[in-house]
Amino acid sequence: MYQIEDHMGRRFEKLRVSLLNTCNFACTYCVSSETSAAPSVIAPIHHEEQLDTNKFATLIEAVSKLCRLKSIRLTGGEPLLYMNLIPLIEKIKLIGIDDIRLTTNGYYLKQTARQLKEAGLRSINVSLDAIDTDVMKKIARHKGPKKALEGIETALNEGLKVKLNAVIMRGQNESQIIPLLEYASSMGIKVRYLELMKMGHLYEQQNEAFFSEQEILNTIAEKYEISQLIRTSSETARYWSAGDNRVFGIIANESTPFCHDCNRLRMDSRGYFFGCLSNANGEKLAPYINDSELLSNKLRQLLLLKQPVKFHGSALSMRNIGG
Ligand code: SAM
Ligand code: SF4
Repeated sequence: MYQIEDHMGRRFEKLRVSLLNTCNFACTYCVSSETSAAPSVIAPIHHEEQLDTNKFATLIEAVSKLCRLKSIRLTGGEPLLYMNLIPLIEKIKLIGIDDIRLTTNGYYLKQTARQLKEAGLRSINVSLDAIDTDVMKKIARHKGPKKALEGIETALNEGLKVKLNAVIMRGQNESQIIPLLEYASSMGIKVRYLELMKMGHLYEQQNEAFFSEQEILNTIAEKYEISQLIRTSSETARYWSAGDNRVFGIIANESTPFCHDCNRLRMDSRGYFFGCLSNANGEKLAPYINDSELLSNKLRQLLLLKQPVKFHGSALSMRNIGG
């Protein structure tokens, strides 16, 4: 029996760490167009609140000892903007966690892929919502996909595992579902489509852009014969094959929730921990790290916050909590 486990057998086995809440993109689903007026439970980070690399490593080590973490995902904001990313990856390796992953918009991946691999990073999820330049520019409110595509190629050449994530929105990028699938299969990688989540400025909004899992499947089935593959427990995505040699996943928080076996714990760049994305109340664990009993109790309380069945959205901004 694990020390920290709930009545549904859920544990914290994967930690996502948001290294900073700044980003070079301003994706429409992540950043409000009136950012300063956006309702947010987390105010923009004041400089003194941002954890330094040693503090990140100390907190990760303390939690890892109690939860027996299997993997860590570094995210943000944009994690490739975090100055000490390479030393942090090296420190996490020294803690004894070998499975270190990263989620990035890929803009700076080309120039960092080799160092990331050498430091011990295992795999990268690149968020790429479009292959078409105009579509991508409108969503990211930045440049087209060219830099991310170059970054993906370099990362693969360096021996990193790569997956694509694409948030699909009605009227914005459903036209990109097939191009993304065909691009991914041409590179020998998987694409995962994400249903839009009610986070941050989208919380409590009726969102007409929501494009469901079924609609994504229908779009692909118009061109390819699809067949569902077996789901691995605690995986956020369910996978399908599409014709020969193409595999895609869908992360359908709304249509097919996966709360029942969710094993993720999250930490933001101030050191606040979150047991569930649906609960916007974080807990600062730094005061307890030298008392394993108190720390265990705090982690158990965070585990109790996990939804039993369904994600409800929250005012937490993805840019703060890291997806
Ligand atoms: N900047 C990095 C990136 O974009 O990959 C890492 C941080 S970003 C917050 C992490 C993931 O959250 C991205 O794949 C992004 O598409 C996803 N995301 C952000 N807001 C979302 C929303 N409202 N619904 C679904 N996914 C969202
Ligand atoms: Fe930045 Fe990632 Fe949010 Fe886009 S999804 S604005 S790249 S943090």
